[in-house]
Amino acid sequence: MDRNEGNSDVVKSTGGSNENETLLCDSPGDGKGKRLWKKVKYQLVEYHSLPAYLKDNEYILGHYRAEWPLKQVLLSVFTIHNETLNVWTHLIGFFLFLSLTIYTATKVPYVQNSVMKTADYQKLHAELMTCLPSLPHMPDMQRLREELKTSIDLLPSLSNWHIMELLSNCIPESLSHSNHTDICVLRSMKEDVANIIAPLLVRPITRWPFFAFLCGAMFCLLSSSTCHLLSCHSERLSYIMLRLDYAGIAALISTSFYPPVYYSFMCYPFFCNLYMGFITLLGIGTILASLLPVFQTPQYRNFRAGLFFGMGFSGAAPILHKLILFWHQPEALHTTGYEVLMGVFYGVGALVYAMRIPEKWSPGKFDIAGHSHQLFHVLVVAGAYTHYQAGLVYLRWRDVQGC
Ligand SMILES: [Zn+2]
Repeated sequence: MDRNEGNSDVVKSTGGSNENETLLCDSPGDGKGKRLWKKVKYQLVEYHSLPAYLKDNEYILGHYRAEWPLKQVLLSVFTIHNETLNVWTHLIGFFLFLSLTIYTATKVPYVQNSVMKTADYQKLHAELMTCLPSLPHMPDMQRLREELKTSIDLLPSLSNWHIMELLSNCIPESLSHSNHTDICVLRSMKEDVANIIAPLLVRPITRWPFFAFLCGAMFCLLSSSTCHLLSCHSERLSYIMLRLDYAGIAALISTSFYPPVYYSFMCYPFFCNLYMGFITLLGIGTILASLLPVFQTPQYRNFRAGLFFGMGFSGAAPILHKLILFWHQPEALHTTGYEVLMGVFYGVGALVYAMRIPEKWSPGKFDIAGHSHQLFHVLVVAGAYTHYQAGLVYLRWRDVQGC
């Protein structure tokens, strides 16, 4: 290994982990030399002196950490080197998405059908009118109303719909001639009314696809941030961290499909299951493939890029399908607008990343700030945030309209 030779300017730790803490308490015998020695202990090195597994971008010339002990690597999150902004762009992104998850769980309301649509109201009225006269006669109107009210009160979203007023209006006419009470009749009448109103009930729309996406985004951002912080420690840790990074990317892409696919096709279970199953299997397959050592080799760079690109691009199919099904609904266009914007962010990010702009134009100038990987990170967070906004539109759309 030419590693030690290469790192000749990196001074290795010489002893216990408390040395830094005891630095100021050294006895005079230890001398100024030792103090100075410790201050320069973990110097940053240049590209040409890196071990092969850390050589990734020859346009970033300096400010590398190489094979530091884990403690120093962890502490380097607060120091300046060429990975500082790579770590922080995604760490801040992680905290942004953590906040969005908490905000979504606690503050984003379920938009209930506070106003029943006129068409539904008329339908309910018509069905009650045709059904009620056929029901057996019932003399005890007060009791009937109370029974119905208790059963209807169990359905919270109906409480605002003035069902009781509607029933009060139509029942006396239908049942004015009745003169006996029968508990079985009462039960059957409740069932009939429940059967009429059940299809009109809009239940709260499930949030799990949206939270799955938020978890995927948090996992991706945190694993990427950790990967950038720790990879320089050793070849073995770098290997593990890269896999974690790939798994994070696959998780973000897969879970990004969940809200658009689920909320677009929740009324078309076949397509919903088809798209969800497809992307989940593709995501799991990518994570498994990334565990193979060969996946990371330069020969597989195109395969790797193609796989992630293919995963992302296959999102075009359900989006086009959604537009065909719901082209006349503003929410379909609104969400598609966000999805196109997200595609632009990810696309420009991938392009900048692949072309290594701008450091290629001026090697060494962007080592600390402004190199392609940092721009790529910011664009990924922007793309994921755009997707979050689209997710909110989907939630409101389905909350209000149901299927
Ligand atoms: Zn990265």
